[in-house]
Amino acid sequence: MAPHAMNPWVAVAYLVAGVCFILALRGLSSPATSRRGNRYGMFGMGIAVVTTLVTHEIASLPEILGAIAIGGGIGFVIARRIQMTAMPQLVAAFHSLVGLAAVLVAAAAFLNPAAFGILDDSGAILAVSRVEMALGSAIGALTFSGSVIAFAKLNGNMSGTPILLPGRHAINAAILLALVFFIYGFFDSQSPVDFWLVTGLAFLIGFLLIVPIGGADMPVVVSMLNSYSGWAAAAMGFTLHNTAMIVTGALVGSSGAILSYIMCKAMNRSFVSVIAGGFGAEAAAGSGEAKEQRPWKRGSAEDAAFLMKEAESVIIIPGYGMAVAQAQHVLREMADQLKKHGVGVKYAIHPVAGRMPGHMNVLLAEANVPYDEVFELEDINGEFAQADVAFIIGANDVVNPAAKTDKSSPIYGMPVFDVDKAKTIFFIKRSMGGQGYAGVDNDVFYMDQTMMLLADAKKMVEDINKALAE
Ligand code: NDP
Repeated sequence: MAPHAMNPWVAVAYLVAGVCFILALRGLSSPATSRRGNRYGMFGMGIAVVTTLVTHEIASLPEILGAIAIGGGIGFVIARRIQMTAMPQLVAAFHSLVGLAAVLVAAAAFLNPAAFGILDDSGAILAVSRVEMALGSAIGALTFSGSVIAFAKLNGNMSGTPILLPGRHAINAAILLALVFFIYGFFDSQSPVDFWLVTGLAFLIGFLLIVPIGGADMPVVVSMLNSYSGWAAAAMGFTLHNTAMIVTGALVGSSGAILSYIMCKAMNRSFVSVIAGGFGAEAAAGSGEAKEQRPWKRGSAEDAAFLMKEAESVIIIPGYGMAVAQAQHVLREMADQLKKHGVGVKYAIHPVAGRMPGHMNVLLAEANVPYDEVFELEDINGEFAQADVAFIIGANDVVNPAAKTDKSSPIYGMPVFDVDKAKTIFFIKRSMGGQGYAGVDNDVFYMDQTMMLLADAKKMVEDINKALAE
């Protein structure tokens, strides 16, 4: 499996693949260009795989093609069947596989270094390869166990609330120190014991780092694990002397890190406090039942249709519940009807609305909502004071004023929409009991200008559309 010596065509092919990946990332940064971005990514990956296959001495091509067909087939079926709402856990599950692949490649290189061409003249594994191998295996194992926990939490197989072990910071610090110690040990002695200890400890630290993270911090964790899986792949790219893998790994690693940073900023949380974990524990401990006794007003589809028809401006805030109900198409029909009545309609998207970055953008794009009607938090938040109606559909945490006022709230500090400044608020959700992801009560339910529209989001908007048409 030794790589061909510096064939310039291989370098060119990998360069083209790398450029395709960069164009893919560029395309994916906006819903308008994301399909094109995806195509670039697929094309680049096609070039990289074919180049690798034709330029390496492959022991058994049918086996490799068979494995690609089986793996690709499983991925194809899963991707076609997956609900948009289950996307974050799918991403976490796929990251776990990248981590596991890095561990397996590192282990294969360690057990059969001659096949990878990484032996020096004395028959020992090259020093630099020992470092790459230990790092690749460590980051891969950490990514694997962390992603499995993130999957279990997002998928509801495990409680989403933080599990706080006593003395966890000291335990984590001790394990990290031990990890560094054994990585050095492996570099120094090439000892199998050190290699497996590095892998085992990294596996353990991945588990311990993610278990205490809960509540609204999970999106950052998923994107952080995405970043780790990229670095693990890049480390293994060095061992395999594969530039395409190094470039792709570095792109995934850095874009994941940048996305984590953007999300932390959007939630007004520091990266360190996310990693330190424990977020959301207080909310789970008990969010006031007494609050549910407060008076609130129930509205109907007819009330909403009547008031919105008369309005000058309506701002729609979609959230996770819109995705669950698949209400984006009927929502666009509602906006079309309102526009016919001369109402100005805008959509306000919070960076962490839904369950994955860009969740709402994707759904609205699917329903052909014009991009120029869709606004980011910071671009539209100043407009609520002039808006006649804030129409909240399946969102909750992203409009919760506790984030601004209640220091004890688990979402304190997260920037939220100033819906309370709008003249009238319609709040679609199914029940007064159901809370948002962070599991906290929301004062907006009880405000004077709020009318709760309690129903499935799609059903409610369909009824509003009927009332608007009459
Ligand atoms: P929330 O999770 O805060 O609230 C969802 C709301 O939708 C609930 O009030 C729920 O109430 C309602 N709902 C659920 N199903 C339906 C339905 N079929 N019809 C009508 N309403 C429904 O959503 P937000 O989008 O406001 O906030 C996202 C939260 O998720 C944030 O805390 C964020 O940090 C977190 N998160 C974000 C990720 C991301 O990357 N975007 C990833 C993971 C977590 P009821 O049950 O009563 O209907």
